[in-house]
Amino acid sequence: MDRTVPFFNSELLTSGSGTGGNAKLTIYLRLYLVRRDRIEEINPRPKQDDGRDLEVVPWGTPTGIGKAYNFAEFKQKVKEHAEGFWNNTNFWLVPPPDYRGLDYPVGNPKMRPNIECKFKIVWADGRDDAHAIIDCFCPIRPHRYRPYVSHPAEGALGGHWTCYDLVAFPGDFVIPGGKECTVNVGDPLGNMTTKTIRCDKELAHEAVCHEVGHLLGLDHVGQFLKTPACMEELKKNSVTGNGAAACYRGPTYPDTENIMGAGDKLALWNIMPWASRVTSHTGIGLQGWRASLAKTLPPKTLR
Ligand SMILES: [Zn+2]
Repeated sequence: MDRTVPFFNSELLTSGSGTGGNAKLTIYLRLYLVRRDRIEEINPRPKQDDGRDLEVVPWGTPTGIGKAYNFAEFKQKVKEHAEGFWNNTNFWLVPPPDYRGLDYPVGNPKMRPNIECKFKIVWADGRDDAHAIIDCFCPIRPHRYRPYVSHPAEGALGGHWTCYDLVAFPGDFVIPGGKECTVNVGDPLGNMTTKTIRCDKELAHEAVCHEVGHLLGLDHVGQFLKTPACMEELKKNSVTGNGAAACYRGPTYPDTENIMGAGDKLALWNIMPWASRVTSHTGIGLQGWRASLAKTLPPKTLR
């Protein structure tokens, strides 16, 4: 599910302290993961689709699939997986051409850096210094419970994750219409056309990376792109509508494949959390900034 106000820290390092003499904008998300062994400890109490209480086993006890999940290991892997994904986006922000605020060295500037977008999880010491508080528990069987962040019943900071959420389960989402999907080809600013491709593979994404996307303020792809099908679901229910399958899908196959859809891919619109922070760090508006996807992006040499 979704939350409307993202909550995290960010830091902009300038003077060429990032990769290749660039600047670096790091988002720090302070997470408090709470070990929950018994269903009575979890609020609101997790339910199955049929309304009954979810069956939960204590961490370290074998589940119905025979594997015992260790909480300390889960916690460590949450950090590894989420940083592996969101710290390696290859997202860059290129300052507006007339903006000189980042040029260095000061006084006699020779370089204009680009901004590398980075991400880190920091463990909160408790509820009071956390950006998000997530109850973590282990249902007896996988596939029976959908994780979320932010719930009306527990305030904007709370969420529920399960011991299975670090694995990408395929088949949760079926591509509507079967084997043919539309993709955009060509220059988005010029002569873009659409093309039909085969897309009968099953999509899967890792729940934790998707949920961290929500914690960074990203909506589902259908909601971001305001697709008619998703807007219809939100009209039916403004609170839970964005959890409808239609909101995980976009008009094109790459949209559906996005991490904020049903897949595990990134697109440039996923840079939004960094783009909105860069305006607070630099004090200038979003106009004129460019987003870029690249392994490296050398700073501009000024003459
Ligand atoms: Zn979601």
